[in-house]
Amino acid sequence: MMSLLVTWLFALVVLVAIIVAPFAISPLRRAWISKPMLARFRQVMPRMSQTERDALEAGTVSFDGELFSGRPAWNELLSIEKSQLTAEEQRFLDHEVETLCAMVSEWETTNVYKDLPPEVWQYIRERGFLGMIIPKEYGGLGFSACAHSEVITKLSTRCASAAVSVMVPNSLGPGELLLHYGTDEQKQHYLPRLARGIDIPCFALTSPQAGSDAASIPDFGIVCYGEHDGKRVLGLRATWDKRYITLGPIATLLGLAFHAYDPDRLAGNRVDLGITCALIPTTHPGVHIGRRHMPLNAVFQNGPNSGRDVFIPMDWVIGGAPMLGKGWRMLMESLAAGRGISLPSSNTGMAKLAVRTTGAYARVRSQFKTPIGRFEGVEEALTRMGANLYLMDAVRSLTATLVDRGEKPSVLSGIAKLHITERARQIVNDGMDVVGGKGICMGPSNFLGAAYMQMPVSITVEGANILTRSLIVFGQGAIRCHPFVLREMAATQERNRAKALLDFDAALFGHLRYAARNAVRSLVLGLTGSHFARVPAKVAPEMRRYYQQMTRLSSALAITADVAMATLGGALKRKEKISARLGDVLSQLYLCAATLWRYEQEGRQVDDAPLVHWAIRDAMFKAQNALGGVLSNFPNPNLGALMHRIVFPLGHPYVAPSDALGQEVAKRMIEPSATRDRLTAGMFIGDPDEPVGLLERALAATIEAEPIERRIGDAVRGGVIDSKLAPGEGAAELAARAMRTGVITKGEDALLAFKNELTAAAIRVDDFDRDLGVSLLVGHADHEAERRLRASVAVDRAVA
Ligand SMILES: Cc1cc2nc3c(=O)[nH]c(=O)nc-3n(C[C@H](O)[C@H](O)[C@H](O)COP(=O)(O)OP(=O)(O)OC[C@H]3O[C@@H](n4cnc5c(N)ncnc54)[C@H](O)[C@@H]3O)c2cc1C
Repeated sequence: MMSLLVTWLFALVVLVAIIVAPFAISPLRRAWISKPMLARFRQVMPRMSQTERDALEAGTVSFDGELFSGRPAWNELLSIEKSQLTAEEQRFLDHEVETLCAMVSEWETTNVYKDLPPEVWQYIRERGFLGMIIPKEYGGLGFSACAHSEVITKLSTRCASAAVSVMVPNSLGPGELLLHYGTDEQKQHYLPRLARGIDIPCFALTSPQAGSDAASIPDFGIVCYGEHDGKRVLGLRATWDKRYITLGPIATLLGLAFHAYDPDRLAGNRVDLGITCALIPTTHPGVHIGRRHMPLNAVFQNGPNSGRDVFIPMDWVIGGAPMLGKGWRMLMESLAAGRGISLPSSNTGMAKLAVRTTGAYARVRSQFKTPIGRFEGVEEALTRMGANLYLMDAVRSLTATLVDRGEKPSVLSGIAKLHITERARQIVNDGMDVVGGKGICMGPSNFLGAAYMQMPVSITVEGANILTRSLIVFGQGAIRCHPFVLREMAATQERNRAKALLDFDAALFGHLRYAARNAVRSLVLGLTGSHFARVPAKVAPEMRRYYQQMTRLSSALAITADVAMATLGGALKRKEKISARLGDVLSQLYLCAATLWRYEQEGRQVDDAPLVHWAIRDAMFKAQNALGGVLSNFPNPNLGALMHRIVFPLGHPYVAPSDALGQEVAKRMIEPSATRDRLTAGMFIGDPDEPVGLLERALAATIEAEPIERRIGDAVRGGVIDSKLAPGEGAAELAARAMRTGVITKGEDALLAFKNELTAAAIRVDDFDRDLGVSLLVGHADHEAERRLRASVAVDRAVA
């Protein structure tokens, strides 16, 4: 009996040794496992072009790495201090930006000038708006990313065309490229001119054939000798056809991207050099600036340009000859900062405008004798608007702070662009629904219609949103943020076979340990409801649970992403719906992290807590649904079901935010409060008779009048006041009766009259001194032509 047991034990030890040995003994492991796996990886790894590699390697990984790790170090997030504005930056916001806002209006720029008025352009140029990112040594304002973002945000609460005109030169374009890659001579020449607005820049990448797939631009330049300034110099003969170029029609300096070739090997040994960026004065012979496009009625300058066989000297290439063919890498490296600031800021600004005005309107406008903001249906929209804006502004601010800390957050800037513009679209749509006809009839007093019309511009530019969601966020995020994938990929590209095997072996087994840990963690966190996940002691107690739940979602994302990558391999690139959903989980985690970060940075404002709770619960619910969507669509359903057991062992734990919580948020949107002020901080309010100022006054008067109106209502119900009104009599007559019977005072009657006057003004839509329908038919405000047209229409009708 004893000897049988010993034999069995011995057999068991041998079996375990056989299984473990290949893993534990490095040479065996490499020979038996890593080597064949490396060969397999080499086969399945999608072929990566240089442009794809440049895009993948560009930028830096910051807190996104933590979110992807399965166990985010929350202390790192909490240790990031929000960038503060300097006194000079604050002064600029309070004076120059305030003045610029007062000088422009959406209606006038669109309908009167079809552009920014000349004095506005002059102000923009003279005050350095176009050189915010240019350092002071070159005459620029040298602003931080946060200050730059605040300027764009504020301008966008007033006039989108002004914001875009200022935003573009400070984003990816000649200024940014020169700063990082320009030769000294180029910097000394152009940066002071750009800073002072002597030169107006544009950057032309997009061509009719190549939009989203910008790396495939057909525009080309051939290295050759040519005449320049009376001398024979080395340069390029460029041919291009670009469209949609912002500021193109008025630019004096054209930043141009084209594919460079060197068939005669004049600049080196290679024929196909790759994408190259050059700066060309628009007065240069052969540069053709086309007629303006009309981007959804927005009047920022935008249009095509082209050139055929235009010779440019080599020193017009940004960075000179050594930078030939390095254009794509330059663009990808510089994209992160601009993309993290421009559209996140402009869309947060538009959302602030929508939230402040719609909230006020919903209190001022009554139907069925009730402010519309108190109907549950409208409340739902107001809730989404308020909570989404809190989150968006948090993401804007955190992303700008990261840029100020020297990061080039390629993945996080993509997430910020995608999700802030999507939520801005939702906010503006909600606002339009709440405001009803007042938002639809255009005119100077329509505060929302222009934002609604222009929203698709933000969705399309700087990486169209469908593409960013489907291809970029996870495609780049998984590879950049994952602790091992990039190392595995690098090993497959390594030419030295021995080194490749060593590197691959280390990365692969690190990866396996990491995946196993995440699978176990995900299961344990799921079974325990993440109640035991570690959270830094210093977080706000009311938010503590969210950190635990996000740790759980992070582990779930990490293991699901690993299994998806392992099973789908290169096919994941084409499985965009899976990739998009995985990206959604990463995105929602970043949005939640930024929201919690804001709550801490702003000193845990308890009045804002309902917005934070709503935004985070909504985001976690979306993340859960995205994960569920990935698992239910795994190509192998059994694997999907197994993963479901690991990730959601007790079912789906997160639910949509409750109606009661939503009501708490909505209440804060329709009355003046510190929460509403914080939510719309930095917004331009302007003249008290303009739409926003008028609404603010109407809101204040409405709230002051409500208790008086309630007293009148009580008096009517109690029979103190006769409520029968003759035709034509209304609230004013009831107020007069209330005053006569002593229910209200004379002063209160005057206040009611004032409130009614302001409310009537606030809900009024514009009336024009002529029939706009007819004048649009004749193309301009020509009264005589209009009269003739009317007459001919009348004749036609009579004949018919
Ligand atoms: C107002 C305006 C200003 C602009 N300013 C500039 C400028 O200053 N300089 C400049 O160079 N360019 C500029 N652009 C161009 C802008 O960057 C492009 O419009 C954008 O890249 C999209 O290209 P496209 O419009 O040709 O759309 P397409 O590339 O044709 O895309 C159409 C749709 O297909 C989707 N799609 C494409 N590929 C994929 C994919 N692989 N997976 C999933 N979905 C995909 C896109 O997301 C989009 O929804 C501007 C455009 C506009 C409208």
